[in-house]
Amino acid sequence: DSFDAMGLQENLLRGIYAYGFEKPSAIQQRGIVPFCKGLDVIQQAQSGTGKTATFCSGVLQQLDYSLVQCQALVLAPTRELAQQIEKVMRALGDYLGVKVHACVGGTSVREDQRILQAGVHVVVGTPGRVFDMLKRQSLRADYIKMFVLDEADEMLSRGFKDQIYDIFQLLPPKIQVGVFSATMPPEALEITRKFMSKPVRILV
Ligand code: AMP
Repeated sequence: DSFDAMGLQENLLRGIYAYGFEKPSAIQQRGIVPFCKGLDVIQQAQSGTGKTATFCSGVLQQLDYSLVQCQALVLAPTRELAQQIEKVMRALGDYLGVKVHACVGGTSVREDQRILQAGVHVVVGTPGRVFDMLKRQSLRADYIKMFVLDEADEMLSRGFKDQIYDIFQLLPPKIQVGVFSATMPPEALEITRKFMSKPVRILV
């Protein structure tokens, strides 16, 4: 039960330890390796269990850093959570040179466009702004290979269902999907059935 035994890149491990994590939490223990293998993963876990570092590690492990194109898209229900995830992703990926940007409402569209144009590896955002950036083609979907829905139940209860479906339509067909949710209401199950293939299910 250590981060060392997960087969993670040296520079990712450095980021994890520098962030202050010593041992993986239960969800990290069970979730990081399947995610790193490229599998679709449903993780039913409350916040506070360490889910953020689970998907951030999985994403950071699989990025091609020589390609400065958005390869991973993470959606979250609120601006605050998206910005929090952005910070964790950036900190854990510090030694890998990851470029992350949060696309959230209430901030300058022009500024988002400028940063996306300059190039990022990962976008974290709320559904509305992310969909807007995709529609404008300020965010190119061509290289996206990982898609994470954090607090999926919360996004659905905030009325983001249509926008999540719209975003799925704009992404490449073969894409790794990770769904994190404290509960699994019918609408969340529907998403997993429609958009995931043979998902691994982890309940913490
Ligand atoms: P989360 O569930 O991702 O919101 O994480 C909850 C809290 O646990 C955050 O403050 C994390 O920094 C912390 N945390 C996550 N994983 C670990 C770990 N392996 N060791 C110590 N703290 C952790």
